[in-house]
Amino acid sequence: MDCLFCKIINREIPADIVFEDEHVLAFHDIDPKAPTHILIIPKKHISTLNDIEERDLEVVGRLQYTAAQLARQQGFADDGYRVVMNCNEMGGQTVYHIHMHLMGGRQFTWPAG
Ligand code: 5GP
Ligand code: ZN
Repeated sequence: MDCLFCKIINREIPADIVFEDEHVLAFHDIDPKAPTHILIIPKKHISTLNDIEERDLEVVGRLQYTAAQLARQQGFADDGYRVVMNCNEMGGQTVYHIHMHLMGGRQFTWPAG
């Protein structure tokens, strides 16, 4: 499949991987928007948030769980951090394999841009 993140899962493209289990892969974003910027993805290819099915609920929950675990491991869980999932063009999605952005290490503002 011609999907950048599937290629990272399959080790066809290198990435700085920080966590992997049966369901989830996490790696540093190539163009970080914060001192720590990690992408957490399901190993199953799901194109957008609109394509999540009921059978995917566990893996989607694991994205959030992994974000919290990595925030603790990175040392900013208590100070706070930002998680973001962009959907489709108006949401700013550029890679069509769902991913959770975990960003920490600076003050975030609201509303997001
Ligand atoms: P989106 O804009 O779809 O929400 O997020 C896609 C993210 O993937 C962007 O933050 C972008 O910097 C990151 N990205 C794009 N290509 C690569 C790549 O080849 N390797 C890594 N590690 N991140 C990438
Ligand atoms: Zn994919």
